[in-house]
Amino acid sequence: MELLDGTPVAKRIREEAASAALAFSPPPHLVVLLLGRDPASETYVAAKKRAAEEAGIRAETVRLSPGSPPGALLAAIRRANEDGNVDGVLVQMPLEPGHDAPRVIDSLDPVKDVDGLHPENVGLLHQGRPRFVPCTPAGVLALLDHYGVALAGRRAVVLGRSGLVGKPLAALLTARDATVTVCHSRTRNLAAVCREANVLVAAIGRPGFVTSEFVREGAAVVDVGVNRLESLEQAPQNLRGSERIRGAIATKGRALVGDVDFEDVSRVAGRITPVPGGVGPLTVAMLLANTVRAARLRREPVPREER
Ligand code: NAP
Repeated sequence: MELLDGTPVAKRIREEAASAALAFSPPPHLVVLLLGRDPASETYVAAKKRAAEEAGIRAETVRLSPGSPPGALLAAIRRANEDGNVDGVLVQMPLEPGHDAPRVIDSLDPVKDVDGLHPENVGLLHQGRPRFVPCTPAGVLALLDHYGVALAGRRAVVLGRSGLVGKPLAALLTARDATVTVCHSRTRNLAAVCREANVLVAAIGRPGFVTSEFVREGAAVVDVGVNRLESLEQAPQNLRGSERIRGAIATKGRALVGDVDFEDVSRVAGRITPVPGGVGPLTVAMLLANTVRAARLRREPVPREER
């Protein structure tokens, strides 16, 4: 079994972004809009800001206090859209209740939409001429390519159909000539469908859901899930014996676990990503790559048909 370690791949992409950023004066400028005080969002935004600054990208966090009305968020987006010094804009998800996520995404300038969620960017991706690919699916592809996982003509199963991960990933794998099945909560015979995969990607947000029963011998398994467990009682039965999880909860009060039961699946998979340290580092690296791309698109305008 080979470990698909995301750290060296992310390092390479971050270095490439840093050297590309040097070509711009002033440096590429990213605005991250953060609404509320969700601890996980705070951690993600801090990691993005730190990584951007290490790569010579200016990262500005615009904070809106908890309970800010939808109009305040839309106004902050409008300001970033109209600011000629800003190259990339992202809104940290999830939003607080009361906000309309599609309306927020629609209001982004599509040429600054470094998360690739605006309908124009989604459309371009599905037409096979991507402008900004959402960071996590782009990271999964970079990881598979780095480790030489074959895609053309192979069976890929994507577990999860969100606009952030599952759907764009299915489009990317299809564009690379994999034969792709997308599964979700209404899929019947889920384990049997997943067992057909040469490449299985789990993005459902259910700790340890994918067990060896879902995995074909020798398959490449990519675990996108990030689930935070604060006690052993929160863990499903199959994860409770894991030394790593027990140790993390005992010492740090929490454990990060994926959607895949790593210890069980490792016995059958040919290759597998760890959590943490698999896809996670790549998501941040791809944001830097997209921000440099945004700077390039805005500052060195290219004909629309080449974007
Ligand atoms: P999401 O929007 O909640 O979507 C979850 C998807 O999984 C849905 O399509 C849902 O099906 C499906 N699903 C849920 N339970 C299922 C079940 N029991 N069987 C089959 N399908 C099931 O989640 P997301 O934003 O895509 O994120 C998925 C996971 O990836 C989360 O753990 C998230 O934290 C993680 N994530 C990690 C990164 C990273 O950087 N590593 C980035 C983004 C997300 P329905 O459509 O039928 O409801």
